[in-house]
Amino acid sequence: MPALLLLALWLAPPPIRPESQAETPAMRRAESLSESTAAAPKGWLTHAEETAFEHTGRYREALAFYRRLAAASPLARLTQIGETAQGRPLFALVVSKDRAFTAQAARKTGKPVVLLQNGIHAGENGGKDAAMMLLRDVLVTRRHAAWLDHLILISIPVFNADGHERISPYNRINENGPAEMGFRVTANRLNLNRDYIKSDTPEMRAWLKLYAAWLPDLLIDNHVTDGSDNQYDVTISVHTEQDIAPEPGGWTKRAYVPELEKRMAALGHVMGWYISFSRGAETIPIQAFSPRYSTGYAAARNRAALLVETHSLKSFKTRVWSHYDIMRVTLDIIAGSPRDLRNASLAADRAARALQPGSMVFLEGAPGSESEPYTLRLLEAERYTGAASGGPIVRYTARPLDQPVRIVRSMTPKLELSAPAGYIVPREWREVIALLQTHGVRTELLPEAIEADFDTWRIDDVRFSPRPFEGRFPATSFKARPVRERRAIAAGSVWVPTGQQAGKVAMHILEPEAPDSALRWGFFQPVFEQKEYFSDYVFEPYAKAMLDADPTLKAEFDQALAASPEFANSPRARLEWLYRRSPYYESDKDAYPVVKAMARPF
Ligand SMILES: [Zn+2]
Repeated sequence: MPALLLLALWLAPPPIRPESQAETPAMRRAESLSESTAAAPKGWLTHAEETAFEHTGRYREALAFYRRLAAASPLARLTQIGETAQGRPLFALVVSKDRAFTAQAARKTGKPVVLLQNGIHAGENGGKDAAMMLLRDVLVTRRHAAWLDHLILISIPVFNADGHERISPYNRINENGPAEMGFRVTANRLNLNRDYIKSDTPEMRAWLKLYAAWLPDLLIDNHVTDGSDNQYDVTISVHTEQDIAPEPGGWTKRAYVPELEKRMAALGHVMGWYISFSRGAETIPIQAFSPRYSTGYAAARNRAALLVETHSLKSFKTRVWSHYDIMRVTLDIIAGSPRDLRNASLAADRAARALQPGSMVFLEGAPGSESEPYTLRLLEAERYTGAASGGPIVRYTARPLDQPVRIVRSMTPKLELSAPAGYIVPREWREVIALLQTHGVRTELLPEAIEADFDTWRIDDVRFSPRPFEGRFPATSFKARPVRERRAIAAGSVWVPTGQQAGKVAMHILEPEAPDSALRWGFFQPVFEQKEYFSDYVFEPYAKAMLDADPTLKAEFDQALAASPEFANSPRARLEWLYRRSPYYESDKDAYPVVKAMARPF
C-alpha cells in the first residue's frame, strides 16, 4: 500500500463510541428543533440541518446566513464590530422592532437587550447553529416575532472566528459530532474566556466596545462542556449572590432561574447546575467565576448572564436542541415581563453611580456555610482494565444514577473592600489607562502635576507563575501592604472615580488584591525589577558611616546579625540590608504605582 494511504488509514478516526449514548426519547425527538426546520422556507436551512446534524458550516456560511437575515427583514442590521487577529471580520446582528440599531436608540425604547454569544470556544458546537435557527424563527418565519414587542436581540455569529476556521476532526476528542469542528482558542492560542479583564486579543477588545456601549441586560454565553458522562443535556451557571448587584442577582435567582428550570423540565430537558460532578463529594459548591470569565465580567458590570454548557457526549443534534430551547425559553420568559429585567439593570446602575467613598464593595467570594439538598443526575459506571493504560478505566452505562448531595449556593466574602472616591493612574502606565478605557471606564485627566501624601500599597514577597498562563506570567502570590506615601504624579495622569457604571470593573482592575487585577495579570511587572546596584568597595565605607551616625539603625543591624548566623556570615547580605535603608535604594521598586483617595484630589 502506498505510504500516504497507510498514513491516512492510520489517522482515520476509529469507529469508537466511548459515550454511554444515554439520551431520553425527548432528546432524540428534539421536537422544537424539528418544528423550526419544518417551518423554514426553501433555501433557509442551515448547513447543520441540511446534513441532518452530521456537520456544522464554516464561518462563511454563518456570515452568509446572517447577511441574508439582515437583507430579509428591515428589523435586523448586521454591523461589523471589529476583526480577529487573522483579519476576519467580526459581526453582531441587532434585531429590533423599533429599528433601534444603536445603543442610544435602544435605551430610548426601554426594552431589555439580550446578547446571544456563540463560539467563544469555537470547538464547542451547538450555540451557533441554534442561534441561526432562532433568528430565522424571528425574522423569516416570524414564529417568534412577538418577542420583538418586548425586547431587543443582539447575536454574535461566532466570537472566536479564527478558532472556528482551524477546522479538523481531531480538535476535540471528547465531542460527539459534528464531523469536524473548530478549535478552543484564538489564532494566538489565547482563550477568550480568560480574556475579559486583560483583553489581550483584538476579538475581546471588539467585544468590550460592543458590550460597554450596549450593556445588554442579559448575556447568554453558549458553550459545550465535557468531563464525566451523565444524564444532563444542559448545565448552567449564573451569578446571584454578593458577586453581582442585588437587583440583577435577585431577578436571576427569584424570577428567571426557577421559571427556566420549570419550563426546561417540561420540555424534557435534563438541566442542572454547572458544577463538579465528583462522585465522592457530599457537598458541592457552585463555582463563582471571576471577571476574567464571561458571566463574572457581566456580574462586575451589574448585568445578568447565563452560562450555557451543553454536554459534549450528547449528539450534536441534541446539543443544538438544548441551545435552541434554553435561548427560546429565556426569551419567552423575558418577553413575558420585560420591565423586571430592565428595571433591575437600571437600579443597579443608579446604585453604582451613587457609590459613596467608604462603601464596602465585594470583589471575591468563597463558598458559604449554607447548603441545600440537590440530586446529581449521573449514570451508573463500570470499571475495566484498559489494555493501553493498564489501569482501571470508567465505562459509563446508560442507566441513570440519581445521587443525593448538598450544594452550596451561598457565598462568604474573600475580598470585600472599602471603596475610595477614586484612583490615580500615573500617566506613564499607559497600557493600564488604555485598558480602563477599553472597558468603558470613565477617566478624567489631571490638569496639573500633584505631589502629595497618598494611600497606596507596597507589594511584598511577590511570586510569579514559572510557566506562561494565557500568554502572561501572572503574579501568583504577594502581600499588598497598605502605606501612606509621598508621590509625585505627572500632569496628564488620570483620575478614575469609583462612582460610575463601570466603577466595579475599575476596582477589579486597580485594587491589587482583586482576583483579576492588572497587577496579578502582569501589567506592572517592571516595578519588581531592581535597576541599579552597588559595588561593595564603593558602599562599604558609606555603610559604616550610616551605622556610626545612627544608633537606632546600628541596634537594628546588631539584632539582625544576632538573629541569623547565615546573615552575619554573608558580607553581601549585610551590605544589601544597609543599602535598602540608604537613600541610594530605588524607592519606587515594589511600590504600587496607583494611588487612591477618599476625595477628588483636584
Ligand atoms: Zn467553553
